[in-house]
Amino acid sequence: MRGRLSFLSGLAIGIGLMAALLVLVAATTAPVSPVEPRERDVYHPNSEALAPDEMRVIACGTGMPTTRAAQAAACFLVELGNGDKFLFDIGSGSAERISSLQIPYDYLDKVFIGHLHGDHFGAIGELFIGGALMGRTVPLRIWGPSGQVPELGTAYSIQKMEEMYTWDLAGRAGNVDFRGYHTDVTEFDYKGVNQVVYEDNGVTIRSFPAIHSIDGAVSYSLEWNGLKFVFGSDTYPNKWFVEHAKGADLAIHECFIAVPDLVNKMRFSPESALLVGTQVHTAPEAFGKVMSAVRPRLAVAYHFFKDFDTTGAVYERIRKTYDGPLDLAEDFMVWNVTKDDIRTRMAVVEEATWSPPGTRPPKPPDLADRKPFSEGLGLETLEFSEFIASGKWNVDDVLRPIFEEASEVLGREFPYPGDE
Ligand SMILES: [Zn+2]
Ligand SMILES: [Zn+2]
Repeated sequence: MRGRLSFLSGLAIGIGLMAALLVLVAATTAPVSPVEPRERDVYHPNSEALAPDEMRVIACGTGMPTTRAAQAAACFLVELGNGDKFLFDIGSGSAERISSLQIPYDYLDKVFIGHLHGDHFGAIGELFIGGALMGRTVPLRIWGPSGQVPELGTAYSIQKMEEMYTWDLAGRAGNVDFRGYHTDVTEFDYKGVNQVVYEDNGVTIRSFPAIHSIDGAVSYSLEWNGLKFVFGSDTYPNKWFVEHAKGADLAIHECFIAVPDLVNKMRFSPESALLVGTQVHTAPEAFGKVMSAVRPRLAVAYHFFKDFDTTGAVYERIRKTYDGPLDLAEDFMVWNVTKDDIRTRMAVVEEATWSPPGTRPPKPPDLADRKPFSEGLGLETLEFSEFIASGKWNVDDVLRPIFEEASEVLGREFPYPGDE
């Protein structure tokens, strides 16, 4: 018995010693938590230089006309290694995505609209007004197709948008640097086939017709430095896309939600679902067929709510007709494209971003900017009427020191309004 005990206690001591030894060894050789940053497989806006031969594309909207927190409507930003930036479509809700990318608004002055559905240009007003307020000092340049009659064209649409903002613009003129509150529209023939609509700084953008709802929808290609980006906007599968998207590095084409889900999730009647899901838009099976003909380096499908219960059907239906490289887009998906590689990541954005300062210093407000508005509206002045001005409550005692403070801090005189 005793012998057995001493054997056991000897064993216990032995195990104890071994354990202590292991702890000691572990203390000296165990991997330590790294203190150096490692490459993370995400894109943080405003944190990566673009190589001179590199293209970066960011999805700023991939969903449907009913925008939701997870997905805005159609919008893709293309950034090039030469510093150029272009927006393709600017659907409802996309302005918030764009602002999350921390790009000075001076650089966000070129928008190419594929067609004039709200889910493809509904945020143009936000970029127009908000971009100018946050530092764009040049007109917002907009390219888009004509229509069968002028009223169905891009120029008409943008003119009416500016008219819609009459009160907004008249109210800002004379209060802020007004240089950015203008548009510069280039409307081109929607029937043009592979026509050049933009050519500058080594970048060529072409348009070709698309088939969607009524005449007047187009698709675009952008070529630069041996790289080709193609954006379909909305379309029924068409011969122009199949032909002119050939050679694309990144080919983005709409791919609508599967017909059964249009009924199940969107409560469409079967008749509407079949019409909208196959005739107005491109069904997943048809998207696959298009991409099998185009054979891009990477095919990108967008224009469906990408949820756990809708994505599978879209993917499986595409795979019936296409077996090549494929991404199902969602908002903030990022593609870095070079001749050697296409890398897909997701952007991680800071929700409470401020746009970086503009590249040109702001000019002080100029009352002359009000003149076109007062004259156009048949008003002598845009100053408050006597009636409204008489409602001002006197807070001069607290506002005057703000002007004195600014004068002191900046070393020049800012006269208090009414004192001059
Ligand atoms: Zn559309
Ligand atoms: Zn659409």
